[in-house]
Amino acid sequence: KYTDEREERKRLYNEIIELKGNIRVFCRCRPLSSEEIAKGYSCVVDFDPAQDMELQITCSDSSKKQFKFDHVFGPKDDQDAVFAETLPIVKSVLDGYNVCIFAYGQTGAGKTFTMEGTPENRGVNYRTLEELFRISDQRSSTTRYEFYFSMLEVYNEKIRDLLAGTSDQLLKRLDIKQAADGTQDVPGLVEAQVSSIDEVWEILKNGGRNRSVGSTSANELSSRSHSLVRVTIRSENFVDGQKNRSKLWLVDLAGSERVGKVEVEGERLRESQFINKSLSALGDVISSLASKHPHIPYRNSKLTHLLQSSLGGDCKTLMFAQISPSSADLGETVCSLNFASRVRGIENGPVRKLTDPSESFKLKQMAEKLLQEEKEIA
Ligand code: ADP
Ligand code: MG
Repeated sequence: KYTDEREERKRLYNEIIELKGNIRVFCRCRPLSSEEIAKGYSCVVDFDPAQDMELQITCSDSSKKQFKFDHVFGPKDDQDAVFAETLPIVKSVLDGYNVCIFAYGQTGAGKTFTMEGTPENRGVNYRTLEELFRISDQRSSTTRYEFYFSMLEVYNEKIRDLLAGTSDQLLKRLDIKQAADGTQDVPGLVEAQVSSIDEVWEILKNGGRNRSVGSTSANELSSRSHSLVRVTIRSENFVDGQKNRSKLWLVDLAGSERVGKVEVEGERLRESQFINKSLSALGDVISSLASKHPHIPYRNSKLTHLLQSSLGGDCKTLMFAQISPSSADLGETVCSLNFASRVRGIENGPVRKLTDPSESFKLKQMAEKLLQEEKEIA
């Protein structure tokens, strides 16, 4: 009976994914800060209250630009609202799918707020782990899950293990190797087995302390490197003996802002070149996948190479395009929105539209059925 239910759940997930596609782009716009208001900056982003897939930018010449995504979150949408839309994707990792979630955008646009959040306002990382533990508890009569947690950073095309105990280990050069099963692996990367959200929280705090040093301020340093959390899930079903292994990547990307070419030199210039290279490599990979291009250029950066086995195929990818509403950030905001649209394939090719009310309705129905089934199994 349990096997049947699991099969049914899988079938429903697949149908939802089939309707929505494996690659999704959500856009999230943070509120205007009190500092921005004090400086007299205005809000240049408008939302359509009737639906949650479009936004409009007012350019400096008063012309309007419209952008469309799989979901748009405005300043009034809180962490609960964001996680509610993210949940179906992260849950599928318990059914054996690989999942990658990215936050993209200029420094200050809310990437870390969305992924990490604050202790009062936890973000996607914390809520995801909490939910995975909750579901694994619910299913404990039929399935045993094991969770392994890693934290790393890609800085100037070098991989650093943020969970390595001593500074010696921290400096140890990590590289990407192809494992026997053809998937990518990082030999030597610390994997901490975790079984509760409290353990995860402790690890997150310690890992944060090991992030790149050398830059001048805290925000500065975190904005120059990609910060990655990897959760490996192993499961065994007692009823049918089926074993699964899947990976979830939660990625807070380096700031996407272009730095002025004139004033930047030395180390900072090098950093920027590495960041530009890896972000455009990521954009190229996702858009090649979205347009079903036969060649996917994973090898163009450490970031995409690292994530190779979790991007493409039946893996699920979600990108948060984070934007600022401020008139002062208009240029970067338009760049980020263009990047996100390109990634989604909205400019390059046909994208399945979910605006058809009958499709949306069907999806809602399926999601409700799925929730109901989860309850019944519990
Ligand atoms: P990034 O990581 O992209 O550089 P942060 O996540 O650090 O940006 O966000 C910059 C500031 O804006 C932080 O003080 C953060 O708390 C605040 N912020 C970002 N997004 C939101 C939001 N949706 N609601 C409220 N505050 C936000
Ligand atoms: Mg940040």
